Amino acid sequence: MFNHLEAIPPDPILGLITAYAEDPNPKKIDLGIGVYRDEHGNTPVLDCVKRAEKIFIATQTTKTYLGPPGVAGFNSAITDVIFGAQSDAVQQRRICTVQSPGGTAALRIAADLLKLTQPDTGVWASNPTWANHLPVFSAAAVDMHSYPYFDAVNSDLLYDDMITALQQRGPGDVVLFHACCHNPCGVSPSPEQWLVIADLAAERGFTPFVDIAYMGFERGLDEDALAVRLFTERCPEVIVASSCSKNFAMYRDRVGALSVVAETAQKAADIESVIHNITRPNYSMPPAHGPHVIDIILHSEELTALWTEELSSMKNRINGIRKTLSDKIAASGIARDFSFLARQSGMFSFLGISVAQVRRLRDEYSIYIVDSSRINVASFNEANMDYFIEALAAVLDQ
Ligand code: PLP
Repeated sequence: MFNHLEAIPPDPILGLITAYAEDPNPKKIDLGIGVYRDEHGNTPVLDCVKRAEKIFIATQTTKTYLGPPGVAGFNSAITDVIFGAQSDAVQQRRICTVQSPGGTAALRIAADLLKLTQPDTGVWASNPTWANHLPVFSAAAVDMHSYPYFDAVNSDLLYDDMITALQQRGPGDVVLFHACCHNPCGVSPSPEQWLVIADLAAERGFTPFVDIAYMGFERGLDEDALAVRLFTERCPEVIVASSCSKNFAMYRDRVGALSVVAETAQKAADIESVIHNITRPNYSMPPAHGPHVIDIILHSEELTALWTEELSSMKNRINGIRKTLSDKIAASGIARDFSFLARQSGMFSFLGISVAQVRRLRDEYSIYIVDSSRINVASFNEANMDYFIEALAAVLDQ
């Protein structure tokens, strides 16, 4: 049965993690990993999560199955956080939200849903996009296409080209957007540009699909949900895959949700039943721990306040690093302009250096970056930034 199978080479990022772990250099820096890091290089459990976990452990009475929709309190609370509790779509119950094992599963369930409802639909994703988007949609046999997004020369948004490409899309097409903190390029449309994009979706009739994996990491919770909310106000149907991995720092607990905005409350309920029919033969029943914990946080004023404070300090740290790094590079004598680092947002940016320079950083300085030159700025701290800038100056020199 299995003898013909050949080993699949590991994801390059996993190879980088192993090489970093084995590197004895005390100055080594891992800029490849995709998780938030604090000043000490740790990814701690948030206090709000620890406190909610205590409550959950003390009060849970059973571990019997949750049932297909999962934790109802989580589903409704996360819907309010993303769409706004007072929004028409929420008030009119036109959104079905089903918890999923992480944002990745939300994307995959949505891909299965698209394949089921319209087998020959295509999904247009930004160029570039998150490395797992293509495999997730391809696994569901959904055709993937791309639209221009990142201007590698100016480290900016290819806004005009993107708009021209989106003007070609229409009913039956699905266009995937990153709500904020674009992974991998860190470039987001401005609020004014989102408005134009949302109007275009309504005018052209394509279906917006928003991946929101870093809500609260760019400008703030409501601000980062702008794209979702503009589309929802204008378009009859919107798909949203959300992740609580980063903003609740619950990565390994696998918490996310798929929300579908429908034309009527009845249609939303119908779609939800179809989603359950997709998940049942897949993982049967959803996991409980993470969604219960977030349910507790979002239904406690005190814990919600603590969460927003902790989230905002992660965001402020990232934005602070971006500014300091950009200023320090400018002051270091490096001639090349890296000021885009301060203009971009979220954890990721492309440094825009060559593969040979990336390799030199790794081989000569123990600074680990994926070949695309995408860095996680959250890996910088007071202790390692100057060393990185020295190394960068050296590899840019030759
Ligand atoms: N979408 C984007 C753009 C991401 O960067 C990630 C994670 O890195 C995800 C979705 C999925 O996150 P998870 O499945 O860990 O919740």
